[in-house]
Amino acid sequence: MMAMVQLFSYLEDLVSIAFPEVCNACGSALHKHEKIICNQCKVKLPYTNFHLEPDNQIEKIFWGRVPMDKAASYLYFHKGNRVQNLMHRFKYKGKKEIGTLLGKMYGSELLQNLYCIDADMIIPVPLHPDKERKRGYNQSQYFAEGLSLAMGVPHRNDILIRAIASSTQTRKNRFERWQNVESIFKIADYNALLNKHIILVDDVVTTGATIEACANTLMNASPKKISFLSLACAIK
Ligand SMILES: [Zn+2]
Repeated sequence: MMAMVQLFSYLEDLVSIAFPEVCNACGSALHKHEKIICNQCKVKLPYTNFHLEPDNQIEKIFWGRVPMDKAASYLYFHKGNRVQNLMHRFKYKGKKEIGTLLGKMYGSELLQNLYCIDADMIIPVPLHPDKERKRGYNQSQYFAEGLSLAMGVPHRNDILIRAIASSTQTRKNRFERWQNVESIFKIADYNALLNKHIILVDDVVTTGATIEACANTLMNASPKKISFLSLACAIK
């Protein structure tokens, strides 16, 4: 029996030499006990630690635009960094498990710091239906799922939905585009949001326009408060 186990282990090593699983952040071969992201990358990822910083840069994005109770982002996204590799594989290469893993890592960090400890529900920003059809999944759902598992807060994908998107977006002027984005999101269940602390989540935050539109839509259901978390942020 032992010999059999040893043989399997030996064969497993041989297979991993021929077809090594690589780290999704740096591309180097993963060791036997590493999964998705190598240990070295886990240490070296550019963490923002915004959850420890009141009035951080993500919170400032929303000042004067939409009331956010708390807002933070896990990682810095820069061209050519490990986060860009991770995000590319997460969004375009079907590696949903990257989002779930990072969500779990972030969620346990937030829990340890009692951040958003009173949250009732996690809601991912819905993806454009055309994009979701093409990609086969909404990446933000997987990040939401990871956060949910670690924080013990339910996540719901069926409450905030996208209405039919306009295909004439590019022909509209700035104000019309803004109006258009405002009317893109709809609430499927108002009662579920009443008096709740909602965490809205997205994969990347840049200008915050989509998130602002989502938060404004959620406000119509009179939640207690809204917070925001993203996996990465494209700011300095
Ligand atoms: Zn790595």
